[in-house]
Parts: sequence; C-alpha cells; structure tokens
Amino acid sequence: MNSTVWQAEMVARHRSRETQFLVRSRRNMGSVQQPFIECDGGWVTNFSSNDYLGLSSHPKLIEAVADHAQHWGVGAGASHLVCGHQTLHHLFEEELADFVGAERALLFSTGYMANLAINVASLNRGDLTLHDRLNHASLIDGAQLSAAQFKRYQHVNVEHAEQRILSTAHNKLQLVSDGVFSMDGDIAPVTDLQALSIKYHGLLFIDDAHGFGVLGKGGRGTLSHFDKKVTGDILMVGTLGKALGCFGAFVAGDACFIEELIQSARSYIYTTALPPTVVAAGRAALAQLKSDYFSLNSQLQANIEHFKDAAQQLGLPLLPSITPIQPILIGAEKDAVAMSEQLSESGFLVPAIRTPTVAKGQARLRVALSAAHTPYQIDAVLDALFAAYQNCQQDCCA
Ligand SMILES: *Cc1c(COP(=O)(O)O)cnc(C)c1O
Repeated sequence: MNSTVWQAEMVARHRSRETQFLVRSRRNMGSVQQPFIECDGGWVTNFSSNDYLGLSSHPKLIEAVADHAQHWGVGAGASHLVCGHQTLHHLFEEELADFVGAERALLFSTGYMANLAINVASLNRGDLTLHDRLNHASLIDGAQLSAAQFKRYQHVNVEHAEQRILSTAHNKLQLVSDGVFSMDGDIAPVTDLQALSIKYHGLLFIDDAHGFGVLGKGGRGTLSHFDKKVTGDILMVGTLGKALGCFGAFVAGDACFIEELIQSARSYIYTTALPPTVVAAGRAALAQLKSDYFSLNSQLQANIEHFKDAAQQLGLPLLPSITPIQPILIGAEKDAVAMSEQLSESGFLVPAIRTPTVAKGQARLRVALSAAHTPYQIDAVLDALFAAYQNCQQDCCA
C-alpha cells in the first residue's frame, strides 16, 4: 500500500516534467572526453564539456596517474584528519596557494563540497550571506545549510546588493558570487563587489569554478582578471574538474580561514580524501597550465572570438560573454529542446539548459568552447545552429 502511494507520486512527477519539456536524460559517452566523441553509440562533435583547455586526456596527466597508481595505490584510505592526508595532498595545496598568491589552500573532493564548507563554517546565526541571484546551486545549498540569513540580489547588480545590506539587520556580512556565471558566461563585477564588501566590513567569496585556468594572469582566475588576490577579506574556490580537466577543488584564503575549515567544515572532515592518483593528475594539470598557458589560452581565445564573430553575423542571440561559455538565448523550454535535438541529429552535442538551472522562459543552448576545437568544427556547429534557429523561428510563426 505504502509503496503504491510513493510510486504513484514518482510517476506523476515524471509526467508533469514531460508535459513541461523538463525531463533530463543522461547520454552514454563511449570515448575519451575530446571534441569528437562517441555518444549513445554514434559520433558527435561535443560543445558541452567544461574541459576548456583540452587537458582531461593530456598525455602528461595520464602518465602521472599511471605512475602514481604504481607507487601510491588507488585510494587515500581515510579522511584528511584521520590518515588520508598524504604528502601528495600537502604538496599540491602548497602549489595551489603559491599559484594563486594565497597564504594557504585546502583541497576538497568537489567544488560542491568546498562551497558547502565555506558557507557553513564561517557564518553564525545573525550573519548575512548575500548572493548574486544566478549563483551556482552549491552556493545556495551552502547558504541554506548555514545558520545565517540568506538573501539574494539581482544579477551583477551591486547597487541592489547594497540595498539588501542596508535593509537587513545583521552581524557579519558575507558577499558571495560566481566568478564566471556557469549558465550565462558573464563575469562578476569583482572590483565593485570588493569595494562594497570593504565598505560593510564583509568577506567576499568568489566561486571561480569556470574562471580558474581560463581567466587572469596565467589562468589564475577571475580575481587575477581584476588584478586582485586572495587576501584577508577575499576567499576563492577553484575547481579542478573544469579547465584543469581533472577532479576535485580547493579553497584559497588566509591561514586563519583555512584552519577554521579544517577544524569545522563538515564536508571536509567527514569524507574520504581525494585518491592520490587524482591529486597526481591535478598536480600535472597545474604544471601544464604553468608551462603551456600561453599557447593553450591563445588557442581558446581564438576559438571564442571566431565563434562570437560568426554567430553575430548569423544573427544568433548570443549573451554578452567573453568566456568559453557562449549561451544562445532561446526562451521557451520546448524550442530549446527542439533545437538541441535537431543539432544532435546533425551530429553536434549542444545541451538545452532549462529551469530550474535557469529561470523559466530563459531556456538556452549552452555552447562551451575548448582550445581543442578546430576552426572547422566551430564553423560546422555554427551552420547547424543557424539551421536549427531558422527552423525554430518558422515553427513559432506557423
Ligand atoms: C561546477 C561548479 C561547481 C561544482 O564543482 P564540482 O567540482 O563539479 O563539484 C561549483 N560552482 C560552480 C559555479 C560550478 O560551475
């Protein structure tokens, strides 16, 4: 009896998603994460990966993983505070801190967990955690797990953020923003956010999942893009699963913040440390970034410019983004899904992003570019995008 009630609800939920074009499904990828990829048994050109520099299958990274598996085995064996914190983790933290110019860095298993940690560990009841409305889901979850008051301001609107601060009685202030917004590709107004944060004695926290490895001097990220560094009142999270092509994440900040996270962040304490092979891959990726950033990034920039120029000439509704995330705003969920399906039939993987990831009626195709794409692949996807867009407009008017 009980199970029938539960099953009926699950089935009803699924039906409701179907009628709103909101069902998501997983594709089975059958090959290495590269621009030309096997997807559900066929081959497509992939414009949906976060592997912006093409590092995820780099020979140096693969070699590092194989070598470290021989010497260190496969699992870390325990959490960091028990006996899972290996010298590899420690060295990598020092390298990351040194790279972004912070006193200390702390490795986390994922960016999701790092974001939970910062929100929960540094906030008390009565504090205010103030977020850009388009912040990543993991930041929102972190804010909701904390004891603090959670408010949001209009996207990149620093004036609105200040109004929120003034209208909310609070003790400490934490100002939180994605560095590069994951579904829009635009960049946070970090200089103004920092000024606001300083004015109200706040802590600015930048989630740089999509900026680290791409923006700033040598790929140091969004803070560096604005000539800023991690300091006593700015923290950053960088992830290793996107431009670095690996897995994991780190928080960089002043030693006192890092120490507090070690002592109190539950998503740090109660989980197994990253496998040594993954740490080895991350270190190799960072080394690659240090030695090759110029050539990797110039290829990526050339691809971004090429895509933007051509898309503008074709009249595709691009959002204002200079990053590898180039969304094409469609609007209706149904249209975005139809276009994505047409693209897939033409041999291109460009996902439709819908609510709840973005606001309802703001569905879009999210094109993600990589240094590994060839100009030919970019021209080909533009042709397919243009054809799908025209088709969609004809259907809308019919
Ligand atoms: C992907 C992403 C995360 C989560 O990082 P993972 O390491 O994949 O858990 C956090 N914040 C933003 C903005 C992201 O895009």
